[in-house]
Amino acid sequence: MTTDKLLHIVGSGPAGLAAAQTALDAGARVCLIDDNHAPGGQIWRGGPAQWTDARAQAFWKTLHGHPGFTHMQDAQVIGCVDANTLLLETEGRGVPVGFARLVLCTGARELSLPFPGWTLPGVTGAGGLQALIKGGMPVAGRRVVVAGSGPLLLATALTAVRAGAQVAAVVEHQPLSRLSAFGVKLLSRHRKKFLQAASLFAGLRGVPYVTGAQIVAARGDDMLRSVVVQAGGRQTEYACDFLAAGFGLVPNTDLARALRCDVGDGAVRVDGLLKTSRADIWAAGECTGIGGVDKAVAEGRIAALAALGLRPAARDIPVLRTARAFAALLARTFAPDDALRAMCQPDTIVCRCEDVPAASLLPHRDWREAKLATRVGMGPCQGKTCGPACEFLYGWPQHDVRIPIMPASARTLSQIE
Ligand SMILES: Cc1cc2nc3c(=O)[nH]c(=O)nc-3n(C[C@H](O)[C@H](O)[C@H](O)COP(=O)(O)OP(=O)(O)OC[C@H]3O[C@@H](n4cnc5c(N)ncnc54)[C@H](O)[C@@H]3O)c2cc1C
Repeated sequence: MTTDKLLHIVGSGPAGLAAAQTALDAGARVCLIDDNHAPGGQIWRGGPAQWTDARAQAFWKTLHGHPGFTHMQDAQVIGCVDANTLLLETEGRGVPVGFARLVLCTGARELSLPFPGWTLPGVTGAGGLQALIKGGMPVAGRRVVVAGSGPLLLATALTAVRAGAQVAAVVEHQPLSRLSAFGVKLLSRHRKKFLQAASLFAGLRGVPYVTGAQIVAARGDDMLRSVVVQAGGRQTEYACDFLAAGFGLVPNTDLARALRCDVGDGAVRVDGLLKTSRADIWAAGECTGIGGVDKAVAEGRIAALAALGLRPAARDIPVLRTARAFAALLARTFAPDDALRAMCQPDTIVCRCEDVPAASLLPHRDWREAKLATRVGMGPCQGKTCGPACEFLYGWPQHDVRIPIMPASARTLSQIE
């Protein structure tokens, strides 16, 4: 069955690219919008010329030059003008884009948790350092520590090693017993993921993998000099130039919330065919729950077909079931626990845009009250970093989203066409 409908997709990561290819193959027209300079999202960052992944290449082969394909890159959706009109900032202008059917593939963000010294120059997120290296930042000969929790630590460490950095240690918060149980489950139920993990460890041969450990403090003067790590009651100080600290990912639900789609448990709520609480908006990939690239691709395909009124392809259903089982295993294994709250000391800055320390947040009952009293989350990033951190530290859910959902210039806002 084919269709000539027009589908708008926000996000050109694996979910968005899969959705776009599926929709074009079904005869629809596609407008793909993304704020990056090149398609690929987080994992295929760098654009088609750098892709080695066969799936990414196949998606681009369909999309590139297709007469039904419009690609709006360097275009960030900063909100909406009304229920069916997105507001984009592109080429220094505000551009409204109307849609009848929309698929949100807005991905995820890293969960950054505060610890003493985390605002020093040289401390980044785990994915943040990986993105900087992929973007060309030289790290050859520089000392790197990668710390926090989750598989992204290994991917980041390998990216750094391949770029010539000396990775002093990968510091994983979860204990070895839990990681071993995770490995056994991967081997029995998710063999491909097991092989991927094995290949990451093989690439990191010689790099210490410290488990059951957590950051005590990053130390330095005008920049990072070292990080102190605690494991089994013992503290070790690693001299380093970069500390890449990440504690997992959180779905990016900003645009979904701006469009009044329901969000629950931190992710965009969807039904079995990826429809959101709105009849004309679907969502796919990490924004519906963290699960990795296979989940993103399967969901992108299913969401595109559902948005066009078509049935999902039979092959995608078992793929999605397996990918969601992997996602659940990942969430159980690497869920941040209470011990990580203890990293944040009373004088630790929680909101780095507005310099708000933990001590001034403690007396407040919720996010709104704390915002009004301390300006937490009211700086340029609008709580994108400290919001999820406060949700974890104090149990303050993030309900509100204000337009613009991304920093936009006053000129853009005053020149909406
Ligand atoms: C920092 C980071 C690093 C990662 N590194 C790895 C890795 O090395 N290996 C791995 O297996 N997985 C990695 N992941 C997980 C990986 O993101 C997913 O497995 C996969 O890329 C998810 O695909 P997606 O399409 O759902 O989202 P993404 O790939 O994140 O794509 C979402 C896209 O939407 C765009 N977007 C979001 N909001 C807007 C907006 N308002 N306007 C315009 N564009 C918007 C984003 O810029 C992005 O290009 C990483 C995740 C993060 C956050």
